[in-house]
Amino acid sequence: MIARFVPALAAVSPALRAALAPLIDQHDFAGWLSAAQVKQLMQAGGVDEDALCFMLLPFAAAYAVTPLSHFDVGAIARGISGNLYFGANMEFVAAPLQQTVHAEQSAIAHAWLRGEKRLRALTVNYTPCGHCRQFMNELNSGTDLIICLPERPAATLGSYLPDAFGPRDLAIHSLLLDDIDQPFAAAAWLDHGLSASSPADNDPLLGAALAAASRSHAPYSQSHSGVALQGQDGRIYAGRYAENAAFNPSLPPLQAALILMNAAGVDNRQIKRAVLAERQNASITQWPATCATLAALGCHEVHHLSLSL
Ligand SMILES: [Zn+2]
Repeated sequence: MIARFVPALAAVSPALRAALAPLIDQHDFAGWLSAAQVKQLMQAGGVDEDALCFMLLPFAAAYAVTPLSHFDVGAIARGISGNLYFGANMEFVAAPLQQTVHAEQSAIAHAWLRGEKRLRALTVNYTPCGHCRQFMNELNSGTDLIICLPERPAATLGSYLPDAFGPRDLAIHSLLLDDIDQPFAAAAWLDHGLSASSPADNDPLLGAALAAASRSHAPYSQSHSGVALQGQDGRIYAGRYAENAAFNPSLPPLQAALILMNAAGVDNRQIKRAVLAERQNASITQWPATCATLAALGCHEVHHLSLSL
């Protein structure tokens, strides 16, 4: 059994354990469940989706990386596809606290990166902080998103965030999880001297970073960006920038990629190399913060790919 799940699995009913164990005790389990698997688990456990999600919260929280707070939060993003996506909070030693990922952001970015088009609900084990309420208000589900907390009636995001400020106040109509595809091209290499060797043009890591940037959500700054990480085993994890109407709750592209890597059960300190792709001459840049956080994680081979329209 995968070690992170042992305590959570011991706590569920024998029937649910028997159905869940074969799904999650896989080397390639990536922290999400398909609609068919969810249905199977509901039948096995004799529970509805709300109850199942509460039972699954400890499995999501098992992904928490909390060397600073030791306070593990788990969240489950529930897509219109019926799929469930696990998320957990992630903290980074030797990086500023602003680089922290909250569990709700983790679950939502996870859903987005796996192609989910809209969320119905989010189940989380602690009440969402103000930062996360604002982050969720960027979603195309708007204030109708249902928030489910243990031992409380389900309620809309609107009830958790009354008198909300959001994208519509800035006349922005492209919302998080909407399908976007910007036609970027790799324009040039910027030599930042961090790496002795330049990757080849056909390097899949470049393509992954470019594709992530082209589908990033940056309606406020138009500074689209994406990060692709390669683990020690060669696998690639690409994350897109998710901008927010209130700016500060924006999720940087590196964090999105780290979320996907963590969901795959891979330690974020096992990054071999990274590529940040971002728009040329954009009004903001992810470069210094990306390099600093990657350095804190022990990754020093970082390339910068400049994109043009
Ligand atoms: Zn939060």
